Amino acid sequence: MEERLELVKFCRKVYDKGFVSATDGNLSLRLDSGRILITPSGKNKGEVQPEDLIIIDTNGNKLEGKGKVSTEAKIHLLAYNSRPEVNAVVHCHPVYATAFATAGIELTQPVFPEVILSLGKIPLCKYGTPSTDELPDSMKPYINHAWALLLQNHGAVTLGVSIQDAYYKMEKLEHAAQTIFIAKVLGGPTTLSRGNVEKLLRIAQSTYGIKPNFNFNNPSLPNTKKEDEQLISSRPVSYTEIIENRLKSRAGNPKVNPFGVNNIRTDKDNIEPDRIDEEEINRIIKEFKF
Ligand code: 13P
Ligand code: ZN
Repeated sequence: MEERLELVKFCRKVYDKGFVSATDGNLSLRLDSGRILITPSGKNKGEVQPEDLIIIDTNGNKLEGKGKVSTEAKIHLLAYNSRPEVNAVVHCHPVYATAFATAGIELTQPVFPEVILSLGKIPLCKYGTPSTDELPDSMKPYINHAWALLLQNHGAVTLGVSIQDAYYKMEKLEHAAQTIFIAKVLGGPTTLSRGNVEKLLRIAQSTYGIKPNFNFNNPSLPNTKKEDEQLISSRPVSYTEIIENRLKSRAGNPKVNPFGVNNIRTDKDNIEPDRIDEEEINRIIKEFKF
C-alpha cells in the first residue's frame, strides 16, 4: 500500500504543477518484487486513487487491477528493462518542455550547472505514434544514458532511482525549459564553455566525496524516505550538497537519494568516496555540444 500512496502522491503533484492536462501522462515505479506499479489509462492524475493503480510484469502483462493499463506502458518497460538502476518513470506533457519538443529543439547545450549534473544532455526523440512501439523505439538510441528525454510533438519522459527522483527530474526539466525559453526571448541563452563544464565536473568529483545516507530498498535502515524529506525541508541545503547528490544520481547509483543530504559530514565519510571517475567525466562532457 505504501508504494500505491507514494505513486498517487506524485500523480497529484504532476497534475497540480500543470505538467499534464485532462487525462494526460502516466507514472510508474518498480516494486521490490520486480513488478511494475503503473497508472491506469485515461485517468486524471489529480483524481487517481491508490486502488486504481495497476500491477504489470516486465513483459507488460497485467497482473492486478481493474482498469486498463496505460497505453504508454511500453515507454516505462523500455526504461526498466534497459536500466537496473531505474526504479521509476514519469511521462508528462509539461508546456515548456513540450514546446521545445514540438519546435524540434533538443536541450543539449550546457546552460545550467545544476541541470548538467542532475539531468545531463536532454535528447529529442523523433516523433512516434502514441501507444505504439514507435515511441519506445524512438527512445532506444538514448535510453542507456539519458535521465530526461523529449518526445517530439508529444511531451517528456524522466527516469529516476525513485519516484521522487523521477518527479524532481521532470520538475527540473520543465523549469530549465521555461528559463531557457525566456532567455531566448531576451537574446540568449549563453552557454557554459567546455572549460567551465570540465571545472564543474572536476570540483564535484574531487571536492565532495559522498557516502550514501540511506538505501532505498532497505526500510530498516535508520534514515527513511520520510525523515529524509523532512531533513530537506527543515534546513537550508547548500548548492554544493545538491550538486554532489545529483552527481551521484547522474552516475546512476541506486543506493543514493539524489535529493537527500548528509546530516553531518566528517573526514571519515570521505575516506572511500564512491566518486564518479575520470572516464565518466569525459563521457558526460562528450554528451554536450560545444
Ligand atoms: P494513458 O492515459 O494511456 O496513460 O496515456 C496518456 C498519455 O500521455 C499518452 O501519451
Ligand atoms: Zn503522452
